[in-house]
Amino acid sequence: MKNAYDVIIVGTGVAGCSAALHLPENKEILMITKAGLEESDSFLAQGGICVLKDEDDYDAFFEDTMRAGHYKNKKESVEVMIRSSKEIIRELINYGVRFQMENGKLLFAREGAHTTSRILYHEDETGKEITSVLLKKIQKKSNITILTETTMLDIIEKENHCHGIIVKTNENEIKPVLAANVIWACGGIGGIYENSTNYPHLTGDALMISQRHNIKLKNINYVQIHPTALYSEKQGRRFLISESVRGEGAVLYNKAGKRFVDELLPRDILTREIHKQMKLDKSPYVWLSMKSIKNQDISIRFPNICKKCLEEGFDPKKEWIPVVPSQHYFMGGVWVNMKSKTSMEHLYAVGETSCNGVHGANRLASNSLLESLVFAKIAAQDITESQRPRRNKDSQIYGSTDWAELKKIYGIRKEDYQNSEKYFKIGKKNLIKEMEKEMRKGDHNESNNHKVKCG
Ligand SMILES: Cc1cc2nc3c(=O)[nH]c(=O)nc-3n(C[C@H](O)[C@H](O)[C@H](O)COP(=O)(O)OP(=O)(O)OC[C@H]3O[C@@H](n4cnc5c(N)ncnc54)[C@H](O)[C@@H]3O)c2cc1C
Repeated sequence: MKNAYDVIIVGTGVAGCSAALHLPENKEILMITKAGLEESDSFLAQGGICVLKDEDDYDAFFEDTMRAGHYKNKKESVEVMIRSSKEIIRELINYGVRFQMENGKLLFAREGAHTTSRILYHEDETGKEITSVLLKKIQKKSNITILTETTMLDIIEKENHCHGIIVKTNENEIKPVLAANVIWACGGIGGIYENSTNYPHLTGDALMISQRHNIKLKNINYVQIHPTALYSEKQGRRFLISESVRGEGAVLYNKAGKRFVDELLPRDILTREIHKQMKLDKSPYVWLSMKSIKNQDISIRFPNICKKCLEEGFDPKKEWIPVVPSQHYFMGGVWVNMKSKTSMEHLYAVGETSCNGVHGANRLASNSLLESLVFAKIAAQDITESQRPRRNKDSQIYGSTDWAELKKIYGIRKEDYQNSEKYFKIGKKNLIKEMEKEMRKGDHNESNNHKVKCG
């Protein structure tokens, strides 16, 4: 790792990858990830990615997104996302992403709260297909360095200008790294919940750092619970049973074997109904039957889901599977403007970490991969246009990365980061406190208790 880069991207999911691929090749870029390259939520996305399949669908796509978001969405962001979708899909296909096709034509799936089929997919592993193709492309670029098992602990900041980050390396060294621009693509907050479909290392680190540096946050009371994760007595990440399973005709049953709800309701409303039913049944789960899917062979359409169910002892072709709501997505995040800029100069936030208002109070299924790709591209374009040089006397980023110098210029000390466990524990406590304060105001979704128990 060098001492300074043009751009540092924290996170190697779709958002981080999209930003990296849209920056010019004359920029020296560092990408870091807290875990392994395949350990991001982007790899977990099953259902697919929305696209404006034809102009006639614009109004319906817009309305579906707004309705799901309880009309709390920022209309301008929704418009940009939908209008950019065709171009983004074209780019993905050019990179080599394979979406499901029939007779040379793309196939579209439908999920809950969508009034029509507009979701492109690759089996039930769309996120893995997209992200691994993007990562492969990035790995071929000589201007991009990727470091795994490398954690951002803090930013280097002065007078509301970001000058770089502090990292803990894979050898447990604490190092300052300077950059003309920093992009946060750190994903969601599932790791602060007892049960979540997210990777446990996604703990809202960018939000914790924002709190310490007075960087604006937005809608941190908007947390989405997915209605159907596979119930398990085991600890750890919950396995998601994608909405598209219900979209294809799977139905929910209560303890008495009766349907109790419209399975295609928006996620937050369906979650509420399932929780109600679980309470009535005095059961930690409800049942999902995939036997009612008539037009598809589920082991072909949902191979990964079927495999996981079998591993857990359920054969979805023959029997119902137990499902339970689980923390899934964060609509809130680090506030950003229409260029994905945070309230701090030279600091951008993209993907699930950011809040550009596109999802309102509740995300419409399969909008987040799209949103991440679109707004990360916009961040990259803004950085390219702004042309901030890496070595700039005014911004002091020419300064050395010597700790004594850093203390003098930025007031930061190495010893403050030595105990990173304690450091993150305090950050998590403060973040939960702030989220709960916002939730007490009453305007939130089903799910906002960080202790939500899912199995
Ligand atoms: C099970 C599941 C299924 C989903 N299905 C779909 C779907 O079908 N369609 C859809 O549109 N969306 C889906 N989503 C949501 C979507 O996958 C995510 O919102 C999206 O992938 C987020 O991408 P991202 O790049 O913002 O974050 P992520 O892909 O989560 O990447 C975050 C990155 O940040 C890194 N990071 C975090 N903190 C630090 C730190 N302090 N230092 C260094 N690195 C750090 C992580 O290691 C990781 O590399 C699903 C989510 C889940 C969990």
